[in-house]
Amino acid sequence: MSHGRGYVAALSEQCRAKDIPILTNVQVVGLIKEGSRVIGVEARFKNQLKKFYADKAVIIASGGFSANKALYTKLDPRLEGMTFTGASSATGEMIGIAEKAGAAVSDMEYIQCNLGPDVGYSHRSGYHLDVTRHVLVNIHGKRFVAEDGARDYLRDAVLQQPNKIVYSIVDKNGFQNLSSLFQQAGILGEIEGEHFENNDLAELAKKMKVPPENLVNTIKEYNQAVETKKDPYGREVWMLTQKIETPPFYAARVRMAVHYTMGGIVINENAQVLTKEREPIKGLYAAGEVTTGVHGSNRVGGNGLLDAFVFGRIAGENAAVGL
Ligand SMILES: Cc1cc2nc3c(=O)[nH]c(=O)nc-3n(C[C@H](O)[C@H](O)[C@H](O)COP(=O)(O)OP(=O)(O)OC[C@H]3O[C@@H](n4cnc5c(N)ncnc54)[C@H](O)[C@@H]3O)c2cc1C
Repeated sequence: MSHGRGYVAALSEQCRAKDIPILTNVQVVGLIKEGSRVIGVEARFKNQLKKFYADKAVIIASGGFSANKALYTKLDPRLEGMTFTGASSATGEMIGIAEKAGAAVSDMEYIQCNLGPDVGYSHRSGYHLDVTRHVLVNIHGKRFVAEDGARDYLRDAVLQQPNKIVYSIVDKNGFQNLSSLFQQAGILGEIEGEHFENNDLAELAKKMKVPPENLVNTIKEYNQAVETKKDPYGREVWMLTQKIETPPFYAARVRMAVHYTMGGIVINENAQVLTKEREPIKGLYAAGEVTTGVHGSNRVGGNGLLDAFVFGRIAGENAAVGL
């Protein structure tokens, strides 16, 4: 199973086994408080506003706000017009709802981007996912960044390129190393007109509409850098190990897209939601991307689910005993 469905299936199975009801298509619109304690939620359910009261506590696990274009553009105007890579459910309104209930909210400006499709296109190439063997060039066919750099560094470098459009390039070996899902996206993207393939680099450049001479020289220089481990783009850790030399060559026209949001509700190590004074709000826990603090200003790829599972479990255990 892919795209998280395996996790959801396993967790749902446990709920069913323990007779824990799961309601879907329910949108929480408010937290209900009695004095300083959160005692339930108000939610839109079957076109009606309904109150749900908690036996012990409420846990917010509503994800980030990477699908909330108005909010991320307000926080980082460079992202104007950019799309997002994730689910449209990452709307982030629970952050404001928790704040209204007294929660501290922090680090909202730390917005992680990753390479995604060009605006108006839908297939995410994934060519950039293997950092040992891909090249990024701008619309002039020139490199501008260490491709194996951290996500915030790559985001800033791409957003500075002309039209904020770049091309991610791999050769046959890079393409074959991708998962079948990303190979499929690569092929569908070619049909859609955002991905390009050719046995000859100069011909590939013509398809991409970048100067052929520049692209050919760029790949030559990149291959030399892999060989000599000397590159104009400095780095702390060297991960480029594979040359781009085996045809066919593949290019994807890509832009930065909002991928993950590091800011959100402040919690402590017990997953208790904290006030601005860093006091736990009774009856309220939070876990996963809706929270802040775990990843600092730049989440390391692969750690989002770990955060959600670790703090989800801590929140569940503590909520169950009413810590
Ligand atoms: C393309 C992509 C690839 C990724 N790959 C990886 C990876 O390989 N490894 C990794 O560790 N992480 C990865 N991540 C990050 C990872 O997906 C997230 O960190 C993780 O899904 C966050 O889990 P969560 O449970 O906090 O939130 P989510 O999975 O976003 O779930 C939140 C749920 O809350 C619901 N919700 C939101 N608001 C409300 C509301 N008001 N009322 C009721 N329900 C609401 C939403 O509908 C959603 O179902 C990736 C992210 C993207 C976008």
